[in-house]
Amino acid sequence: MKKRFISAAICPKCNAMDTMALTKKNNVEHVTCVSCGHQMSQPEEHVVKEVRPLEQVIGIFKQE
Ligand SMILES: [Zn+2]
Repeated sequence: MKKRFISAAICPKCNAMDTMALTKKNNVEHVTCVSCGHQMSQPEEHVVKEVRPLEQVIGIFKQE
């Protein structure tokens, strides 16, 4: 499974920055903090809001 790290996203649990990894499973996006293991199956609004524009900037999509 591919992981994308969310730039500048802050974990709501441990407050670590740049530890949130976004994965997609069955069309549902899951966000996992690699620092404390906190998981969100429905990313919080502010996280999503930060992810969308950054996805294009990060540009690590790779067609396989
Ligand atoms: Zn965390």
